[in-house]
Amino acid sequence: MTQPEALIDRVRGWVEAAARVVVLTGAGISTESGIPDFRGPRGVWTRDPQAEKLSDIRYYMADAEIRKKAWQARLVHPAWEAQPNAGHAAIAALERRGKLHALITQNIDGLHQRAGNSPERVIEVHGTVLKVVCMSCGWKGPMQETLVRLLTGEEDPPCGLCGGILKSDTISFGQSLIPEVIDRAMRCAAEADCFIAVGSSLQVYPIAGAVAEAKAAGARVVIVNAEPTPFDDIADALLADSIGRTLPRIFQCPDS
Ligand code: NAD
Repeated sequence: MTQPEALIDRVRGWVEAAARVVVLTGAGISTESGIPDFRGPRGVWTRDPQAEKLSDIRYYMADAEIRKKAWQARLVHPAWEAQPNAGHAAIAALERRGKLHALITQNIDGLHQRAGNSPERVIEVHGTVLKVVCMSCGWKGPMQETLVRLLTGEEDPPCGLCGGILKSDTISFGQSLIPEVIDRAMRCAAEADCFIAVGSSLQVYPIAGAVAEAKAAGARVVIVNAEPTPFDDIADALLADSIGRTLPRIFQCPDS
């Protein structure tokens, strides 16, 4: 479905007029890079509801078999092969133009930084799969080093310092978010004059609440998502075309 040019023009005008654009991204921005989302039609959980257990801290901590499966999933995680796509590139271009106040992402794949967004502007509310963390002593290290241990036969590699359970440095379901990170994201949302939610079903709280926060503070709200979200009613514009086609158009990338 191609969006009418008039709607694209209107949104582009809001972006041009804005001094502080805040973008919130979810798994949908990375599907065109080959990383499946969770809840879209081809999502990981849509196809296999059992897979949700791998992302639940209660199962992960209690069951070595779940941890072994989670490590195997990390070993073949599509993030290792994925390249940033046109959607990621458009947000990086927005930052280069000095328009991007903050990029709040629920993604853990590191593709925004690889596309060229500066790490200090990216707020990773659900952590990153590029690092591991010890659930006992808090040690953190690069994911690739732990994956090498898997290749040498360790199925559930323990922390090298204290023997504790290692996990990707991501926020699993049932785990607490980091309050300072969420506070910063909400503060930035409230400072936006144009807030654009991209590729998220907007079902995961508290971050989905950033949309309402921005709207209440007076921002124009745009939702770029193939499927309806619970916040469509308060959006000033809904764009349901592919993210890789839409973002270059609304952020006015030279070759769009
Ligand atoms: P979600 O899976 O709940 O929703 C993704 C939405 O994006 C869906 O509504 C889908 O219709 C839409 N979408 C997918 N591809 C699209 C495209 N090319 N164009 C337009 N729309 C498209 O994602 P969520 O809201 O981010 O929640 C999932 C949670 O899982 C997040 O918290 C995130 O931490 C994690 N997750 C991250 C990744 C990643 O890092 N790439 C991947 C899967 C899940």
